[in-house]
Amino acid sequence: MLASSLRRGFTPVAAQGVRALSSTRSAMSGYGFDLTEEQAEFQQLARKFAREEVLPQAPELDRTGEYPWELIKQAHGLGLLNLHIPEAYGGMGLHSLDGAIITEEISWACSGVQTAMEANGLAEMPVILAANDEQKKKYLGRMTEEPLVASYGVTEPIAGSDVAGIKTTAVKKGDDYVLNGNKMWITNAGHANWFFVLAKTDPNAKASKAFTGFIVDGDSAGLTRGRKEINMGQRASDTRGVTFEDVVVPAANRLGAEGDGFKIAMGAFDRTRPPVAAGAVGLAQRALDEATAYAKDRKAFGRPIADNQAVAFMLADMAIGVETARLITRRAAWEVDQGRRNTYYASIAKAFAADVANKNATDAVQVFGGNGYNSDYPVEKLMRDAKIYQIYEGTAQIQRVIISRELLTRE
Ligand SMILES: Cc1cc2nc3c(=O)[nH]c(=O)nc-3n(C[C@H](O)[C@H](O)[C@H](O)COP(=O)(O)OP(=O)(O)OC[C@H]3O[C@@H](n4cnc5c(N)ncnc54)[C@H](O)[C@@H]3O)c2cc1C
Repeated sequence: MLASSLRRGFTPVAAQGVRALSSTRSAMSGYGFDLTEEQAEFQQLARKFAREEVLPQAPELDRTGEYPWELIKQAHGLGLLNLHIPEAYGGMGLHSLDGAIITEEISWACSGVQTAMEANGLAEMPVILAANDEQKKKYLGRMTEEPLVASYGVTEPIAGSDVAGIKTTAVKKGDDYVLNGNKMWITNAGHANWFFVLAKTDPNAKASKAFTGFIVDGDSAGLTRGRKEINMGQRASDTRGVTFEDVVVPAANRLGAEGDGFKIAMGAFDRTRPPVAAGAVGLAQRALDEATAYAKDRKAFGRPIADNQAVAFMLADMAIGVETARLITRRAAWEVDQGRRNTYYASIAKAFAADVANKNATDAVQVFGGNGYNSDYPVEKLMRDAKIYQIYEGTAQIQRVIISRELLTRE
């Protein structure tokens, strides 16, 4: 049906129409893949920082799990942190695509450091999208003035994918709200100056109206940070549980109206999934670069292992993955910059880039053989680091739930 109508449409008249149009079009084509001069400069700056500062520290940070404070401070000084805070609040107001370009470079060197840096972007996004002027001045302004970190606190021990299942409550008392509950897996939680927290304000309302978002100061009485979790990978990043016991939060710290929280918390993901995907692309590229260099150098049976088609084709497949993941990631970011709703592209980018990062890291270990399995070589870290991209900010399965819902509800 579709094919026949397409064929019907391809008449000499339609062809004439294209010819007529093409005679008037400008030399510019509709698709552009070149970075602007400014974006190329961002990329160079981030690459230099990543390779000269982050890369040498990555193995030790991975071994000790030490929080990368010095790198965070340096990144802040260079303008590589808090990329999307608007200029009105002292930030750089970078576009989403600019951010994806920078993030990929940091992740190439250490995706644990990238996650620690990116968690600021995640915490700030609900504030950028939904806060009033006073709140933005107070909480975004301070992030630009000094090297601080913040956290996005939604997940709980009992609910991650099922956000509507979270149990933390916020009860209005006079001019304040009183928060009680437990958050889990909160990135940067050990060091956060403030938290974005999603809490239930109306137990009887449906999910879309039951929750409210708050900015909670890190030094609030009753807020307790748990131990640093020992994770499989990305160990430079800090992940903890956070407990709220009668934490008093002024109503002035409520984001938007009561009941707006679910929309705000989920809306932030459209903006933050492209940078997560960019992190996965950086890791996938690193795996390819390491595997390519090793395959040219390592000899077996008297010749470089890259001379075996079985190995060369693994590299080819890794390249196919990384190039296509980068394209869809930049597309997802670019949609934001066009002012369009990008939910569909953001989820495709996040799901695809995460899968590519995992495949490339696993294949890089394979190319390295026994050495790949050992921590003296860089690729086993990549394999451990890659896994989280299929879990946080919506699992691989949840991205597919979103993509299919977007497809099936299209008019
Ligand atoms: C290192 C790390 C950092 C994190 N940082 C943060 C942070 O900063 N802030 C924050 O709020 N959270 C954070 N998280 C939490 C993360 O977003 C959740 O772990 C994730 O959303 C999954 O939730 P869950 O762990 O409860 O798994 P569950 O929701 O219990 O899922 C378990 C499995 O079931 C599958 N599943 C669940 N529901 C469905 C469904 N409907 N269809 C198909 N499959 C389904 C999942 O895909 C998964 O495979 C972080 C997690 C980790 C590990």
